[in-house]
Amino acid sequence: MGGCHSYPSAKKEDSKTLQSSDISSVKLGINNNNLEERPYLLQQNLSQQVARTDMVALSALPPGVDRAEWLASNTVAFFKQINLFSSALSEFCTPSTCPTACGPGDTVYVWTDDHGRKLKCSAPLYFDYAMSYIQELLTDEEVFPTKTGSVFPTGFVFLVQKVFLLFFRTLAHIYWSHYKETLALGLHPHLNTLFTHLTLFCQQHGLLDPEDTEPMQDLITALGQQS
Ligand SMILES: [Zn+2]
Repeated sequence: MGGCHSYPSAKKEDSKTLQSSDISSVKLGINNNNLEERPYLLQQNLSQQVARTDMVALSALPPGVDRAEWLASNTVAFFKQINLFSSALSEFCTPSTCPTACGPGDTVYVWTDDHGRKLKCSAPLYFDYAMSYIQELLTDEEVFPTKTGSVFPTGFVFLVQKVFLLFFRTLAHIYWSHYKETLALGLHPHLNTLFTHLTLFCQQHGLLDPEDTEPMQDLITALGQQS
């Protein structure tokens, strides 16, 4: 697997032999050049999910649950899953394979340190910083209180937004730079499910800006059309 064929332009009489990926790319306005660059947009890959769960219902705030509590417990759950996922691919993400933390197109993520300095770093370093930063927040009782009746700090939602942006970038880098390895390991259905859940959760709770999700918008739209 991996990559895509560039189909010869179909003649009228054999239009029935058009692959479903062609049809879907027409629908999405994606040409074959895009598909070559982005194999995750091929129909046979898009249709792979581990569970046919109603992700919208799964993401919605359950009645009677405090919103901050709901955001906190989901942050912890997503952190575990994304951490597990990137560890499975970590041997393929090295300073030589990924000298920058890149996403689709010419997107490059730059780490900003505590003093607001921008650091150009390799993808493994960037995502190491990201995961350590999140781990630190999650274990800080002042930010993510675990005792019942504790109050969440002011600015809690702002921090959650920051964390979800880092989750989103982690998956964007995997789709963009490590999709071949993801396919080879058979992890693509898990990646689609995780990404669908993450983006729906963020949409429902207003956690990501459209400009942040823009590089992956073609995939978000395509996955939304699957169910
Ligand atoms: Zn990488």
